[in-house]
Amino acid sequence: MYFILFTIAVFVLLWTFQILFLEKFYESMKVRDAAAAATKISDSYESMDKTEFRSFLNDVAVENDLCIEVLDRYGRSMYSVEVLGDCLIHGRENSTFTYVSDIVKNDDKEIRYRIVNPRTHNEMLLYGCVLGDKDKPDGFLLLNSALVPVGSTVSIIKRQLMIITAFLIVIAFIISLFLSRRIARPITRITSSAEQLAKGNFNTKFDGRGYLESQTLADTLTYAEKELSRVDTMQRDLIANVSHDLRTPLTMLKAYAEMIRDLSGDNPVKRNEHLEIIINETDRLAMLVNDILDLSKLESGRQKLNPTEFGIRGKLTEIIDRFKGISEKQGYEIQFAPDKEITVCCDVVKIEQVIYNLINNAINYTGEDKKVYVRQINQPDGVLIEVEDTGDGIEEEKIKLIFDKYYRSENHKREVVGTGLGLSIVKAVLKLHNYDYGVRSTLGKGSVFWFRISGR
Ligand code: ADP
Repeated sequence: MYFILFTIAVFVLLWTFQILFLEKFYESMKVRDAAAAATKISDSYESMDKTEFRSFLNDVAVENDLCIEVLDRYGRSMYSVEVLGDCLIHGRENSTFTYVSDIVKNDDKEIRYRIVNPRTHNEMLLYGCVLGDKDKPDGFLLLNSALVPVGSTVSIIKRQLMIITAFLIVIAFIISLFLSRRIARPITRITSSAEQLAKGNFNTKFDGRGYLESQTLADTLTYAEKELSRVDTMQRDLIANVSHDLRTPLTMLKAYAEMIRDLSGDNPVKRNEHLEIIINETDRLAMLVNDILDLSKLESGRQKLNPTEFGIRGKLTEIIDRFKGISEKQGYEIQFAPDKEITVCCDVVKIEQVIYNLINNAINYTGEDKKVYVRQINQPDGVLIEVEDTGDGIEEEKIKLIFDKYYRSENHKREVVGTGLGLSIVKAVLKLHNYDYGVRSTLGKGSVFWFRISGR
């Protein structure tokens, strides 16, 4: 639409100028040419001798299609050049006298007439001026040129323009049709794909071929689709995992509670045994819920670090002592190899949880010797902390996965209590602190989980 309007506007302008102003423009051009020729002649009038001047006049006349009449101060013809065939001044002394007296009367000492030639009925331009001083003229100059009838030219141009206009409007129409199709087509395609995406189809292809912007739009939408799909899968996994993990302890709780009601209520030994299981399962539930909450807080980015200074050796000792109470009963042995006490600055609660989770995993997954090694290694720019076990180790390709949410390997030797969130929390906390971390593992020999508290 706009393109066609633009074309029409251009033509309206062109028409107005060509047809309305062509005549005026032509006439003023003719006058300007005559005036220029007159200036040329009056400039050379004095400086040339007669023959030279005559041939000069001839040249000017031929060049400009002019009749030239040079008169002396009394109005008598001195030089006369005729190229037009039928002009207003040659051999018409009466007329020339009238023109000369008109020039004298005129303030500008100049005349410009548009006269219809009585014999040919053609319009002509008559230009006259003085030679030499305006007040005391040496002579007069009269120039006569034909004004070609513009009307016929205008009608030719009109017809030509009409054809060109019609032609160009058709071309403009075709081009705009083509352009709008070209612009609209990829967008229409992308829109219908986007509708598919809105309905939840994450396999929609966005085809933005056509031009750069549509391609960029398609790429952006493809990226958005991938992200949406990822979030969707994560959400599904989360709900599936959480509900699965909640259901198992709840089933146990119910089963043991019913057992106490129906069977072991009167048997203090059995009852206590069952109550113990109920308490353990409740702990496990609480642990799971806490882990989920911690992780969601950490991952939402709302969790801010609260750094404090503390001695790392003291902290490690304290955490290991907490474990010893429980684990030694079951025959586990945690060996701590401390370094000199140094002060570090980080979020103590969160780092405590990292250490706790790592040691807890090491105990859960260590080998038959039930040994766990914890090492503190002071370094120039921080403290390296390692937790080693003697378990089965982790396969190379699984190392990448274990830090993911809910990843749990299936082949545990014994029933291990865990939520599958421990290492995700470790990863989230260490990332928040910008600390390096990693795993070295040899299959069958065990694994070393490490992280480095940097920037003392
Ligand atoms: P959870 O221990 O509750 O299953 P984690 O996120 O702490 O969850 O660990 C994820 C998985 O990584 C575990 O299921 C286990 O397969 C593996 N893993 C973690 N720590 C060790 C370890 N010390 N030795 C071997 N495998 C481990």
